[in-house]
Formats: sequence, C-alpha cells, structure tokens
Amino acid sequence: MNTHYQFHFDDESYTANSAAKRALQLKDEINRASKLYYIDNTPELNDAEWDARMQELLKLEADFPELITADSPTQRVGAPPAEGFEEVVHPIPMLSLGNVFDEDGLRAWHKRALDFLELENAPMVCELKIDGLALAITYRNGVMERATTRGDGERGEDVTANVRTIKSVPLKLDSIKHSVPPLVEFRGEVFLPNSLFDQLNADRHAEGLTEYVNPRNAASGSLRQLDSSETAKRPLDIFVYALGYVEGIKEPSSHWNALETIKSWGGKTNPWTRKAATTEDAMKAINEAFMIRESIDYGIDGVVIKIDSIPLQKRLGAVGRDPRWAIAYKFPAEKAETTLKAIHVNVGRTGALTPWAELEPVMVGGVTVERATLHNKDEITRKDFREGDRVVVQRAGDVIPQVVSVSSKNKRSGDSTPYKFPNTCPSCGSNPTSSDGEATTRCINVSCPAQFERLLEHYASRGAIDIEGFGERVAQDLTRLGFVSTISDIYKLHERREELLKIDKMGETRIDNLLDAINASRQQPLSRLLFALGISGIGSESASWLSRRFRTLTGVRNATIEELIKIDGIGSIVANNIVNYFNVAKNLQLVDELIELGINPIDNRPESSTTHPANGLIFVVTGKLETMSRSEANNRIKSLGGKATGSVTGKTHYLVAGTNTGAKFDKAQRLGVQIINEMEFIAFMDEGTVPIQTE
Ligand code: NAD
Repeated sequence: MNTHYQFHFDDESYTANSAAKRALQLKDEINRASKLYYIDNTPELNDAEWDARMQELLKLEADFPELITADSPTQRVGAPPAEGFEEVVHPIPMLSLGNVFDEDGLRAWHKRALDFLELENAPMVCELKIDGLALAITYRNGVMERATTRGDGERGEDVTANVRTIKSVPLKLDSIKHSVPPLVEFRGEVFLPNSLFDQLNADRHAEGLTEYVNPRNAASGSLRQLDSSETAKRPLDIFVYALGYVEGIKEPSSHWNALETIKSWGGKTNPWTRKAATTEDAMKAINEAFMIRESIDYGIDGVVIKIDSIPLQKRLGAVGRDPRWAIAYKFPAEKAETTLKAIHVNVGRTGALTPWAELEPVMVGGVTVERATLHNKDEITRKDFREGDRVVVQRAGDVIPQVVSVSSKNKRSGDSTPYKFPNTCPSCGSNPTSSDGEATTRCINVSCPAQFERLLEHYASRGAIDIEGFGERVAQDLTRLGFVSTISDIYKLHERREELLKIDKMGETRIDNLLDAINASRQQPLSRLLFALGISGIGSESASWLSRRFRTLTGVRNATIEELIKIDGIGSIVANNIVNYFNVAKNLQLVDELIELGINPIDNRPESSTTHPANGLIFVVTGKLETMSRSEANNRIKSLGGKATGSVTGKTHYLVAGTNTGAKFDKAQRLGVQIINEMEFIAFMDEGTVPIQTE
C-alpha cells in the first residue's frame, strides 16, 4: 500500500482547456481509487490524497461549471456494488456529505441553506461523524428484512446475512413506546472499534493475510464478506443516524425526534448528540467533540451538522452527491516539521513549471508525507525556502500536503543560499517564460516531451479515449523509448508487439492487454475523440455539441468560426481555438493519420436528445413564489436541462412570475417574453405541460 503522497502539479491559473484536462485526470484517478477503496478495501491512495484530489476537482468544477459531467465523482457517491453481492436499488439515494474545515466554512454553509430557504434561521443538530461505512436496514412490520451498503448511492450491495451477525442491530423492532410502521429504513454507520481493529490485524498478520489499513477499511472488508460466518467473527458495531424510507406513518417533524423514535424502536444511536440553535452553538459542540475524540473507542473524523427540521431538509434537497441540509465539519489540519531535502520542478500539460519539495519522510496525521507542493516560483522567494531548511508541512482533508513555512527552529549553515528557480525547462531545456500577472512560469516549446507525455495521458484517460492500462507510466515509457511521438502512433503499436515485448518492465500479458485496450478504444464516439485531442476550451460537453453538429472529424476540421459560434455554449474564444487548432499543420496531419488508421467515428445521433420540453430553454424567475424559493425553482429548471438566468433579455423564453414582481416583469412585457405563473411553471416542470402563449 502506498501511503506516500504522489501528485501532479499543474497550473495554478487554468485555461478552460487545461482545466478540462486536469479535471479528467482527477476524475480518472478518483474513480480508480474509489473502486480500490470502496470495493476492494485495498486503497492505494491515502484519504488525504483522495480528499485533495476531490477538493481540487470541486474547485475546478466551481470555476468551470461546464466540467460537471454526470460521471464526475463529485456527482457520485462511493462505488457501484461489487460482484458477488446482489444489487439493491435504494428507495431514496444514499448521499455523501460536503465538507467544511473551519467556522467560516460552517457559517457559509448555514447561510447558503438559509438563503435557499429564504429564512432567518434554521436550528441544527450536531452528531459525531463516525468513520465507518454507511448502511441501510429495512424493517417490514418491525422485522429486519434487508440490509444494504451505500454502494454508489443509487444501488448498494445486499449484505443482510452479514448484518444479522452484528449484535447491536435489532432483528425485530420494539413497538412499546412508538408503534412500528409497516416499512421503515434505518440509516447508520457500521464501524469496528479501535481496540478490536488492532486485534483483527494482529490475527491477520499471524495468518499471513494482508493487514487492513485503518478501522474504516477493516469495517468495510468485514461487512462485505461473501461468507457471513467470517463477518460473525469480526466484532462490528453500528450507530443509526437517520431514518431513510418510511411507509405508513407520519414522519417525525425533526431529526432530533427521528433519533428519539429510532432509539425507542431499539436502534442504537450515538449518545453524543447536541442541539445547536446557531452556528456559534454548533462550534461549541464541534470543539467539545474534538476534545472527546481521544477518549472514545471508535474513529471519528469530524462532526456532522444537520438542519433539524425534516420538512426543511426536504426543501433543501441535494446538490450533486451532497445534501444541502447537512455538512461534515472535518477536524483541523495536522502539521509537522521536517527537512526540505531538495526542490524539484515538474512540467505540467500546458507547460507550467511547478516546484515541489522532496522531504525527509514525516508522519502528518497518520500518513507519511515525502513530497509537498511549493506552489510557484514567487512563493519560494517570498517564504525563502532553501534546500536543507527545517520546514513546517501541513496536510488537511482539503489540500495537497504543502510546505507552509520555514520552521522557527531552523538553523542555516553558512553556505545556505536562496533557491534559484531553473532558467530552462527541466524536460526539454528550452527557456521558459512568465507572462505578466501570472505566477506561473511556463515552457512554451510545443514539442516539449513532458507536455506531450501529459497529452498522451489525457488522450488515453478514462473520460477521453479510455485505454485501460495506459496511464502516466506507460505514456512515459512509450514516449521515452520512442514508440509514440504523435497520438496516431498509439494505433500502430500492434505492429510493434515484438519490440514492445522487449520492454522488460511490462511483460507479455500487460502488453497484450494494452494492445487489446487500444483496439477496443477505436470504437469510441466522436465526442470523446474531440475531447481527447485536448483542444483548448473543449470539455466533454462542448465536444458532444461539436460532434452532434458536425458529425465527423472532417466536419469539425472544416467548421468555420461563424458555424461554430452558432452552437449554443460555444463562444468566439473557443470557436477561435478550434479553428486555430486545425490551422496548425501538425494537427491537420494528425487528423489525416487518424482517419487513415480508421479512427474516424461518425455521430449518427438524432439532432436533439431533448427529454423534457424545458431542455435548452432560458428562464428567469422573479417575485416571491408560494411553494418554493427562487433557488429551488432555478434548480428545478437546471435539473431538466433548462437555463435559469438572472436577467430578462430577448433570448429569454419564459419569465416565471410570483407575487411582488418588479422591473423584470416590466421588461419581459416590453420584450414580449412569455410570462407564466407559478402553477403553470409547476405543471411545465412536473408534467412537461408547455404553457400556452396567450396574446
Ligand atoms: P464521508 O465519509 O466523508 O462522509 C459521508 C458519510 O459520512 C456518509 O455517507 C455516512 O456514511 C457517514 N457518516 C458518519 N457519521 C454520520 C452521521 N452522524 N450522520 C450522517 N452521516 C454520517 O464521505 P464518503 O463519500 O463516504 O467518502 C469520502 C471519504 O472517503 C473521503 O473524504 C476519503 O477520506 C475517503 N476515501 C478515500 C479513498 C482512498 O483511496 N483513500 C477513496 C474514496 C474515499
């Protein structure tokens, strides 16, 4: 298991294109890591590495919303059910939680919720965030019927037999205090007590089995045994933290009451639960939880803060994989001191030269860190980091390990000199440039091998052409050994199988798997190919629009700026990028070669894939609505493929008018924009009833 932090540094300031590429790489890495973590229980990344990638992706998606694709891990929970278990569809999806790391983050979350609801306050409940795995247990007429893991949030694994072995899970609910409904689902966290984790690992070691990395993975591995007698040997425990699907009773009005009801039915809830009327109260509870963390026999990685009112929870709903009505406050960053052994510079896909620190390995929050970011040239100068210095390293859930400062205890020898940033690209030796206002130093050599390796990695990555097994290392080997010097060379590799076999590291099976994967990837649709080429500003979504409009690679190549900007979502900058890309002789040659090699997908999809009549239409919501807030209305529009904008223009299709409307209403009337009321809007959204234009 690799517990060392390895990462790619890239530009601090992204262009749409570099952001898309980085996002794709992150998506790929996160997806792979998640499978190893959730399904195989053999994580290759540590949690901080995973969190850092996730936070980086979230940030990229916030800056470039077009990168939010349905397959993004930010929109998904966990991983799909593993083979060997029966799949169960959750009646209500099981979500993850958004993270905050400080009081400001907590306040911002609460304010967002209040703004969304258009309310002054909404009391909360604070609970320990148990570091285990989520489980749903269904009781029919009070008798345990089924237990399901969270899986990918939509579908989980049926682990009923295993859950029956957990002593704290009631097999029958108690109806003395509250009558038990015909159908009720408990949601909770299964965990392995810390003391028993050590014992379990000692036993595994003695049996020659791989040890579990942490109690959470051990709990997951134990619960997801195909043989339930194995699970029975592991002392798993549970805390139930919510009701899921309920039928036949009126749901409790508050989360607090729900916990009380669960307890009365015999469910094991956590004894530490606090009410918080304000975020200040919540902070007090969080500090208290932080203090007790050492004294409890199970892992907690923070506090979960939930809006108490269940009707408000329902109104708030979810965004992507996270409910809006709850947030995880993760415990603070951990710091450590170590020696900065050397400063290295990495070349990113767009040529950005990013410095990183090679460190004397140091444990920070339970993880060995031996590399950390130094951000950019200016940061090194400003903080005067020098090789040989004692430095402070920080690692938190939300960031890549970073060198924060030179330690106050640092003693420099007489020959210590300020670090000199290289004046040549470490990959190709050409002179880098720094443009005004940009912290990044960049290699602008279009033939820089490091940049080409990154392009190859991107081309082959999962969201692009998706060649299984063609990652960073393979891209590096194939380029450095001269097998691939342009993308089209990938498709000639099968002719060089014998030569490839001589690469001692790879071995016959891997080479054949790689060649098979390349062959399989030839079927990828045009949209993926366009995205994979790495044209500046083309994300997977815009690639799809281009594909639908122009149908073939040649079609896109021949597209004019005028034709391109007619596509909704493609502006003049991206249109220019596309035309410029196809003006470069090397790129034209690549397209010709790809076509010649049979990589010439045709897009036969029908012109429009509209599923809801609101798809593609532009709405403005104004005034006060009766049944929902404006944010909720906007969300509804977006979820159906429409656009919700803030100002009325000639392009607006509908103005949704509540009461107390103002200037927007007048403007819509002036421009002849169709105005609909709340009821018409709801019928439109819910039933697809297109409002009739009345003149
Ligand atoms: P999460 O564990 O950070 O938070 C969501 C989960 O918290 C919920 O699904 C629920 O199971 C749990 N939870 C615990 N106590 C709760 C309570 N009182 N109320 C409500 N929920 C409670 O998110 P996640 O989506 O399960 O996983 C993401 C985390 O898993 C990452 O932060 C990372 O640390 C780790 N991870 C690591 C790797 C890796 O390769 N190392 C891969 C994937 C995920």
